[in-house]
Amino acid sequence: MSDKVIGIDLGTTNSCVAIVEDGAPVVIPNRGGYKTTPSMVAIAENGKRLVGHIAKRQAITNAENTVYAAKRLIGRKWGSPSVRAASEAVPYRIVEGPHDDVRIELRAQMFSIPEVSAYILQEMKLIAEEYLGEGVEKAVITVPAYFNDGQRQATKDAGRIAGLDVIRIINEPTAAALAYGFGKQLESKVAIFDLGGGTFDISFLDIAAGVFEVISTAGDTFLGGEDFDQLIIEWLCKDFETRHGVDLRKDKMAHQRLKDVAEKAKCELSSVTETEINLPFIISTGKADALHLQARLTRAELEDLTRDLVDRCIEVTRKTLDDAGLTVKEIDEVILVGGQTRMPRLQAAVKEMFGRDPCKGVHPDEVVAMGAAIQGAALVTAASDMLLLDVTPHSLGIMIVGGYFHKLIEQNTTVPTSATHVFTTVKDNQTSVKILVLQGESERAEENELLGEFILTGLRRAPRGEVEIEVKFEISADGIVSVSAKDLETGAQQSITVTATSGLTEDELRRMVDANKDYLVEARQSEETERRKQAVERALEDIEKLLPEVERTIAGSEFGQDAVRKARAVIDRAKGAISANDQSAIAEVSDSVTRTLNMFKGVVARKGA
Ligand code: AMP
Repeated sequence: MSDKVIGIDLGTTNSCVAIVEDGAPVVIPNRGGYKTTPSMVAIAENGKRLVGHIAKRQAITNAENTVYAAKRLIGRKWGSPSVRAASEAVPYRIVEGPHDDVRIELRAQMFSIPEVSAYILQEMKLIAEEYLGEGVEKAVITVPAYFNDGQRQATKDAGRIAGLDVIRIINEPTAAALAYGFGKQLESKVAIFDLGGGTFDISFLDIAAGVFEVISTAGDTFLGGEDFDQLIIEWLCKDFETRHGVDLRKDKMAHQRLKDVAEKAKCELSSVTETEINLPFIISTGKADALHLQARLTRAELEDLTRDLVDRCIEVTRKTLDDAGLTVKEIDEVILVGGQTRMPRLQAAVKEMFGRDPCKGVHPDEVVAMGAAIQGAALVTAASDMLLLDVTPHSLGIMIVGGYFHKLIEQNTTVPTSATHVFTTVKDNQTSVKILVLQGESERAEENELLGEFILTGLRRAPRGEVEIEVKFEISADGIVSVSAKDLETGAQQSITVTATSGLTEDELRRMVDANKDYLVEARQSEETERRKQAVERALEDIEKLLPEVERTIAGSEFGQDAVRKARAVIDRAKGAISANDQSAIAEVSDSVTRTLNMFKGVVARKGA
């Protein structure tokens, strides 16, 4: 097992893995030679799990069982508007989980979102292992800066299911800044404008003498390239409905094909000003002919269609800059991250706002994974001269009387951080106190994200107000919240029961880790079986080709006749085992087949000598 740390950018659309080698970050290509891998998971008809390019290739014909953009659902509650929006837009089935969480049903099997994400992480781990020629376990995984506690925790759970030791979760824009500043002696304030497939993040950092300090961060976890695609799909569907009176949205296979062409057209329009969209035989009406979709989209039309999305990015950026007390003049460099920032209109909007051209020196698809790898290496290197100071994107607090939100840790506070609050009883002989912990900025508790219910139990029976319990709320460097409590009278640690309001319980998580391990063992065995079957088939073919010559050569002797008889028996047994697809019979006959082939080759070689 390698002690190296891999950096994984677990993206909505694509994922990327990097490692630091000889002091420099390197992005690792997958088997196909691509540096990014589609964040897609599918279950094939035979129950096999498909991940990455192989899942993408079959997405059209297996749309209902192919998951994309799972990151948009990770750590989300079932009832949230974002989940409702997603379930209307995707062809796979999203269902309610047991803890107000989200599950996906594929071929009558339920998957939690961390499991689906785990399969992608596992693929990235495998890509790194094939490159390194040894196992790797330690990883730094990136998340959008604006992810809340639930989303971070769920991402960490995904890592655990994938068999990874997630030594740190870091924010994507911060990772991008690390990669940008790597090896340079910078003294500057930078803006990282990160628009990927599913999320938008804006962060402002101060970089000086190897210290990367995040000043402020904000974003929208439901704004990304997928939304641009969706608007093109809507536009195509409306146009098609006007022309043919048929609603393509209802057809899952048509939807997947539309998604593919919409994204392709969008990407093309970043380099050309007009593009043709053609989908022959898009749908059969059941009447005479099948219908074809044909459209022409110009860059100007696309910019019109998606104007609101671009405006939203700029609004969030401007507000974050103001809230941080910064002005555009103070920003020395603007770095664009995420595939969607290739759109010329976006680049122009960023330029208009900051009054300067964005930096072209970083690769928008690879920079985040590289930053994660840099941070990973720094965490395991004793004498690293790099320091990362990140912030919490959301305020943390508790619900108080009247349903109000009492902030304990303000947003944009450097992490790790902690705050304490003293609770007391409000009734005589009260033995427990319930605390609701929330994240968000609203004054009203209900408008913020509920992280969990914490119940202090086993309190001493006493008149009200007498028992005082100090509760400590901590946010780790991963941005993950934990709570502990102390009895102020005795100094003893007070027990706390945490009821997760979404996400997985420890038991479920352990079961998923085990189920995934079992699946991997089985998958490896079935690959091994398939390989053996193919080897036996190939050897059989060779034996049958050599048989007539062998017969001619050795049939003269009794020993030779006996050998041929035995060889024929082996051939029959092997053929029988293969046609019955009997795995254990194939395994049994495999050695005899190899011996027979070797013997035949020997006979032929001796004859030629
Ligand atoms: P990422 O999450 O950084 O991999 O970004 C993926 C998003 O970037 C997807 O929505 C892609 O469609 C989008 N994207 C990639 N290349 C381009 C391009 N040339 N023009 C516009 N969007 C692009």
